[in-house]
Amino acid sequence: MTSEIVHWADGARFAGSSGLWADVTNPATGQVSGRVALAGESDAAHVIASAVRAQAAWGETSLARRTQVLFAFRELLNARKGELAELITAEHGKVLSDSVGEIARGLEVVEFACGISHLLKGGHSEGASTGVDVHSKRVPLGVVGIISPFNFPAMVPMWFFPIAIAAGNAVVLKPSEKDPSASIWLAALWKEAGLPDGVFNVLQGDKVAVDALLTHDDVAAISFVGSTPIASYVYETASRHGKRVQALGGAKNHMLVLPDADLDLAADAAVSAGYGSAGERCMAISVLVAVDSIADDLVARVAERTNTLVIGDGAAGSEKEADMGPLVTRAHRDRIAGLIDSGEAAGAKVVIDGRTVEARGAADGFWLGPTLFDNVTPDMEIYTEEIFGPVLSVVRVSSYAEGVELINANAYGNGTAVFTNDGGAARRFEKDVQVGMIGVNVPVPVPVAYYSFGGWKRSLFGDTHAHGTEGVHFFTRGKVVTTRWIDPANRPTDGLQLGFPRNV
Ligand code: NAD
Repeated sequence: MTSEIVHWADGARFAGSSGLWADVTNPATGQVSGRVALAGESDAAHVIASAVRAQAAWGETSLARRTQVLFAFRELLNARKGELAELITAEHGKVLSDSVGEIARGLEVVEFACGISHLLKGGHSEGASTGVDVHSKRVPLGVVGIISPFNFPAMVPMWFFPIAIAAGNAVVLKPSEKDPSASIWLAALWKEAGLPDGVFNVLQGDKVAVDALLTHDDVAAISFVGSTPIASYVYETASRHGKRVQALGGAKNHMLVLPDADLDLAADAAVSAGYGSAGERCMAISVLVAVDSIADDLVARVAERTNTLVIGDGAAGSEKEADMGPLVTRAHRDRIAGLIDSGEAAGAKVVIDGRTVEARGAADGFWLGPTLFDNVTPDMEIYTEEIFGPVLSVVRVSSYAEGVELINANAYGNGTAVFTNDGGAARRFEKDVQVGMIGVNVPVPVPVAYYSFGGWKRSLFGDTHAHGTEGVHFFTRGKVVTTRWIDPANRPTDGLQLGFPRNV
């Protein structure tokens, strides 16, 4: 039986009237499991209007009441995360433990947002001028749009909406049409947690839905995560329409292994970070930069581990869980297989070929095994393209300097890592490298919720990163109030003063 996944407005499912639908598939079986509504312009207007109606009252709700809702949401989500994980695995394909992991990282942001009262505190200066006090405050923006990619249907929206809601905004979430069920599940959970209807809304759809959010007068800000071409388009279009925008884009993350590194630790890390979630992570390692003297040894250790990986249906419970599930769609699987063909044709050495894979699952699943390339050079398409799949490319360099030069010449700057036991080299790397998130012996350096997540260069358009204090800043704007109350015992006698007011 297939399900119908629709929009959410005014605290309830909303079918919309476009009559347009897209199939949703289970990547492990290749079967259509549901269909998702694709919003037309009037559907988008309906969902945005729901947010507009709810926002003013929510923005004026006390911090005490708002945080009670946040705490309730946190408790419910923590108690029922297994249900959400199953939904994610059934539409995305990642293995269940990975789905639980993404929810756990999203929960961290919910927990951070539970402290919004502290985060919104302004400053106060008594006696800034004689008899004059000054205070500052952060106020909500209004209605904000969140547009998310397929690869983290729960965590990426949760980078933004807990903070946006806690800060007094109303949200319209436009999830990926490839795995839309998590968004509706989260909307129902907010309702159960006591969030007033209309504060959290979901608009399902494709470019039509996105364009409606980017151009609508009632939407104040856009948080986008997705591929670089769309991030760039979203940034330009929404900025032109007067909105505050943060648009996080694609990535090509390098892991540099220096000769003194613990090679077993480095090999474990490269395999986990390269093939976890089938490489469909913006912080996945896709390029392993090996200094020549240890390259043969490192490639051998990576290959040995890669050959042990079990590929299969991530939802299967009884046997040992698979290490890696299928790719999200057949088209994405075929695109990556084509890129592997191109790498081979360009002369890279195929150490492990994922095109021939034995998967534990249905024959029609979108399977592709882990692929390991050696002797990749920066002119090859497998190096220049963001693959976003289970393909790890080894580039050999002669020195630390050549490795850093390679990383800095790349168009993207999302995440990177160095593996070394030399503290001085790690410290040098941290300074030299032009990348937003850096790991030292940590391959996937996703910052904790109270720091901010964001890349450099073509990995981020706009200047505000997600969550942490930058997230609080993004979803609020400042007011500064200068106040003079008349002290009856000491009434000022200014008289007329047409000169520019000076502080005295
Ligand atoms: P995508 O760019 O195809 O889609 C992202 C969102 O944009 C979706 O909601 C989609 O419906 C919408 N969209 C797609 N085409 C559009 C168009 N022409 N006009 C307007 N909207 C459009 O990305 P994806 O394939 O869902 O996700 C994978 C990409 O996301 C990868 O490039 C990955 O690196 C990136 N990503 C980046 C981060 C980060 O933090 N920088 C995190 C996760 C994913």
